[in-house]
Amino acid sequence: MSKKILVIGGGVVGTACAYYLARRGHTVKIIERKAFGSGCSHANCGYVSPSHVLPLATPGAISTTLRAMLRKNSPFYIKPRFSWALWSWLFKFARRCNEKAMLESAAGITALLNSSREMYDTLFEEEGFDPEWQTRGLVFAFMTSAGMEHHAEAEKCSRERFGIGANRLDGEALNQLEPALLPGLAGGFHYEMDAHLRSDKLMSDWRNVITRHGVEVIENCGFESFVRQNGHATAAQTSQGEIEADTFVLATGAWTPQLKLDLGCKIPIQPGKGYSMTMAKPNRCPKYPMMFEEHRVAVTPMQSGYRLGSIMEFAGYNDTLDVRRMKILTESAKLYLHEPTAEPVMERWTGWRPMTYDSRPLIGPAPAVPNVYLAAGHNMLGLSMATGTGTLIAEMIEGREPHVSPEAYSPARF
Ligand SMILES: Cc1cc2nc3c(=O)[nH]c(=O)nc-3n(C[C@H](O)[C@H](O)[C@H](O)COP(=O)(O)OP(=O)(O)OC[C@H]3O[C@@H](n4cnc5c(N)ncnc54)[C@H](O)[C@@H]3O)c2cc1C
Repeated sequence: MSKKILVIGGGVVGTACAYYLARRGHTVKIIERKAFGSGCSHANCGYVSPSHVLPLATPGAISTTLRAMLRKNSPFYIKPRFSWALWSWLFKFARRCNEKAMLESAAGITALLNSSREMYDTLFEEEGFDPEWQTRGLVFAFMTSAGMEHHAEAEKCSRERFGIGANRLDGEALNQLEPALLPGLAGGFHYEMDAHLRSDKLMSDWRNVITRHGVEVIENCGFESFVRQNGHATAAQTSQGEIEADTFVLATGAWTPQLKLDLGCKIPIQPGKGYSMTMAKPNRCPKYPMMFEEHRVAVTPMQSGYRLGSIMEFAGYNDTLDVRRMKILTESAKLYLHEPTAEPVMERWTGWRPMTYDSRPLIGPAPAVPNVYLAAGHNMLGLSMATGTGTLIAEMIEGREPHVSPEAYSPARF
């Protein structure tokens, strides 16, 4: 039976939910507080990357991160301040830095990463749009043999446990594959299953597609609260008045805990601020998207430009664009690439990743309001998990057999 569904939040996750629901014949509206696609989904690195199966909390992650934070120009930063929510989040994150918790999180992440990767191929084929989709994989490049060996352990784990393996390349083979890299690097790993796209183009193209499928997008419309009756939500109170619906999907990314809703579950999401810089293509533009793990900088070559991205700042809901951090991107890229930057710079950007301490999103009905579904907390992989999330939300709302087990994402787990 066709339902009236209101999706709150016009990021990549809300868009995917609206798309898969509209395709099933439901009447769908999206409300977005600002401009559609202007949140974290705007200028991220564009990786659709099953290779990122291991969560942030791994054995040894705390000491590696602390060491990295002591380095000048560290890509990690925690703004010292008293915030119960932040310190409790960090404490719980630290407790998950063991093998058992790592594998538990990875199992949840990998299911959505794999299904989403396939669904993107289908989406672009069926809907006939192309946000600069390229399927040549992702390369992790390393300066030192210690970095190579450290990554080799992670690659072994993800290959043996989850079937996600890479081709290992020595320094020479890496240079042959990617001549834009400087000579003398220790080597790299090529994950062929990964793909990438231009995220801002994805958002604008996908908006046209959902509109064609009948989705109404209402911008500058801030959600405030739910009107409730007998334990169910009947309408959303918004800055543009009340909007009634049968079912609601909350896809408000890093802002979700700020809504202070009584949904019968905790929402331990912290904003993990990242930066990106979008430029014209350098003359010696890389062919492959690349991660420079030792400096945690990502490079995205696109058909219409070139992007550097990185940084993980836990500084609360602060959206200032710190030029020193922006410089970390270019300074780090210089260590790896012949031509790390190009003119003109088209955009300098920051976004808040919706970070949970177990790296898994919250997808499913809110325990206290069962016709409100959460689809938030996708960490560093919201683009990579969006199509699977949208499909799962549609399956849950219609009571169909889910294509992946939803337990790992249950909002009630916290
Ligand atoms: C530098 C950087 C690089 C990244 N690279 C990648 C990558 O390569 N691959 C990948 O998979 N992920 C990547 N990510 C992570 C990815 O961008 C996020 O996980 C993803 O965008 C989250 O999508 P979302 O739809 O949940 O959130 P958002 O895109 O933030 O959307 C949430 C929307 O909700 C709206 N909203 C909030 N409150 C309200 C309200 N009260 N009423 C109405 N609307 C509201 C916001 O305005 C926002 O538009 C990166 C992130 C950063 C910062």
